[in-house]
Amino acid sequence: MRKNLVLVGAPGSGKGTQAAKLVSDLGYEHVSTGDLLRAEIAKGSELGLKVKSVMDAGQLVSDDLVAELLKANLHLGSKNYIFDGYPRNLAQAKTLESILGGSEYQVVYFEIETNSLVERITNRRVTPDGKHIYNLLTKPPKVPGICDVTGEKLVQRKDDTEEVVRNRMKVFHDAIDPMLDYYKKLGKLNKVDAKGRVEEIYKIIRELVD
Ligand code: AMP
Repeated sequence: MRKNLVLVGAPGSGKGTQAAKLVSDLGYEHVSTGDLLRAEIAKGSELGLKVKSVMDAGQLVSDDLVAELLKANLHLGSKNYIFDGYPRNLAQAKTLESILGGSEYQVVYFEIETNSLVERITNRRVTPDGKHIYNLLTKPPKVPGICDVTGEKLVQRKDDTEEVVRNRMKVFHDAIDPMLDYYKKLGKLNKVDAKGRVEEIYKIIRELVD
């Protein structure tokens, strides 16, 4: 068995890219609590009905509900997991510690400065359905303001403003900083520079699990 992995990082920090590579190269199971919750909503289950309004408002679902859902979807002992979007605070980190029992795990924190994230996100432009994504600095469209693929006019998402990004990062740090301290004390915290190259970050993670 390999070590389980907990990936921690703000939206846009690149953890999804790394998770996808680990799944295809090493057969990890990717567990995203956001995906599990969205699946419950799509099914119209009792739990889905309970969490829909909370998620629509961008707030966190209660720790108990998320923990129940997570436990119901794990097959520890027969699979190696990548946890994505869980834990999101200290209480959840302690719950995960007890869910995992003796199973070994390591935590990878994708560190990114708020200013870099603000720059990345305020320069993002998308098609009205959000499917085609550009960045004015790193991946501009060929014709300014127009999607290369569909020819539609590009727009800025309502929540891609500096104020919203700064606020999101503050909420994120308030919740995860105590959790990162906890992992540091357990000797499980590994920080990577989220601005680094995908291959370099991947190499660091492989050394942790190989
Ligand atoms: P995500 O896809 O990770 O951005 O999650 C989408 C939404 O699902 C969040 O805004 C929360 O409402 C909810 N959610 C996902 N993971 C958790 C978690 N670990 N604890 C509480 N709520 C969560």
